[in-house]
Amino acid sequence: MKKYIAAMDQGTTSSRTILFDRRGRMVSCGQAGFRQIYPQPGWVEHDPEDLFSSQMKSWEEALRLGGVRPEEIEAIGIANQRETAVVWDKFTGKPVYNAIVWQCRRTAAQCEQLQKTHGRQIYERTGLRTDAYFSASKIAWILDHVPFARTRAENGELLFGTVDTYLIWRLTGGRVHATDYTNASRTMLFNVHTLCWDDDLLRLFRVPRCMLPKVLPSGSDYGVTLPAFTGVSLPVCAAVGDQQGALFGHLCVRAGEAKNTYGTGCFLLMNTGSEAVESKNGLLTTLTASLTKPGYALEGSVFIGGAVVQWLRDEMKVISSAQESETLAFSVPDTGGVYFVPAFVGLGAPHWDSGCRGTICGITRGTGRAQIVRAALESIAYQVSDVVRCMERDVRLSIEKLSVDGGASANRFLMQFQADILGAEVCRPAVSETTALGAAYLAGLTSGFYRDLEQLKENAAGAECYRPEMSDALRAENLRGWESALGRALFSPEK
Ligand code: ADP
Repeated sequence: MKKYIAAMDQGTTSSRTILFDRRGRMVSCGQAGFRQIYPQPGWVEHDPEDLFSSQMKSWEEALRLGGVRPEEIEAIGIANQRETAVVWDKFTGKPVYNAIVWQCRRTAAQCEQLQKTHGRQIYERTGLRTDAYFSASKIAWILDHVPFARTRAENGELLFGTVDTYLIWRLTGGRVHATDYTNASRTMLFNVHTLCWDDDLLRLFRVPRCMLPKVLPSGSDYGVTLPAFTGVSLPVCAAVGDQQGALFGHLCVRAGEAKNTYGTGCFLLMNTGSEAVESKNGLLTTLTASLTKPGYALEGSVFIGGAVVQWLRDEMKVISSAQESETLAFSVPDTGGVYFVPAFVGLGAPHWDSGCRGTICGITRGTGRAQIVRAALESIAYQVSDVVRCMERDVRLSIEKLSVDGGASANRFLMQFQADILGAEVCRPAVSETTALGAAYLAGLTSGFYRDLEQLKENAAGAECYRPEMSDALRAENLRGWESALGRALFSPEK
């Protein structure tokens, strides 16, 4: 009997392979970084060959560290950085250009223009704001700038894929050109209502349909790997975008269930079930992972989350490690009226002010570094709470629990304050690698390695939960202070 499921977690700065057992426990983890390529300010690229080779390096390491033979692995699930675009030659397999990474701003001006003329149409079809972030304009850029690329694409010689698609194509020796609904929903070319590539958008972005992968449920048959790569031939049974992978890893599979990832920025997703909710608050509508027809989620992000802690450490040098922020925040009863709005790069949902910048207000003679550090941690929770409130207004229900992961979710002060400000329970699962876990669950459910969701729920025992303890009056007072601080930071508070 096979003992493990392998999750390949292809992220923005590193590739990892994590092996999970039947109880959903992590057995081993291999990791390999790769080059970040910055050809010009604001441009970000990865070499697709690096993505593949680092992934295979992490594979070998995970098997070695776990003392696992490839024959003991049942199936592979892939989770990946979303939106990043790769275009390659169908016959030689050679990429015609580096992967253009989601962070890359090279097509920002064109997208701002399109937002004005076609923003509504694009939102209605894709659930997305027209932005350089998504794949469509990146593909168009490659076709416009690489000599002969457009003609070759139109002749059916070039293929496009997000990173999942590229890895699957490589692993299967070029036999499978496919992606899943969650990744397709981030390309800005996929109609999330009809669940098809959208011909009008393909025309608008001038992307030939013949380059596009077929789209499958996240848990599905994605072919088998070549033994040259994985030791023996193994089935690939899942592909999923990282954030939707995490949502599934948290088992947020019903409407109203939500997760937040506290990384450099914060990524919130709330499952809205079979309903594609139109946001009145600037949130995105996106597809969720499943073994059949996908459901929908609302997505919102906070640009500066854990990064505010990095800033305190690296730029201000008021703390020597991220962990120290927890001790300092706990060392004072409150911030003494200090509020920190870390709008270093503007503010996203629900404010959408790209021009505003950071502010610290309410400073008195008695303010010290503990108050500033505490205010910085509190700002992460306030921003997350603002996005959660938008989601609650959009779906007209209130969340009872927020599932959390990511580096800064290790901070107990932050988690308690988050529960207090939300007035909801905040739970961090025992397995912190929820993105990889989601890919493993999807692959394992597809292959039959895991029986059903009930079994996975039993596996999920051991979460650390924080219950709200703050009085309603204090919560209201704190939120008033935050609102007032926001008003000072925003470029045009009357908006
Ligand atoms: P990413 O995937 O975006 O690189 P991670 O999930 O690895 O992010 O989390 C890293 C971020 O979390 C950093 O911004 C760091 O400052 C923050 N962080 C890590 N540990 C803590 C902690 N104990 N308290 C607060 N922030 C933390």
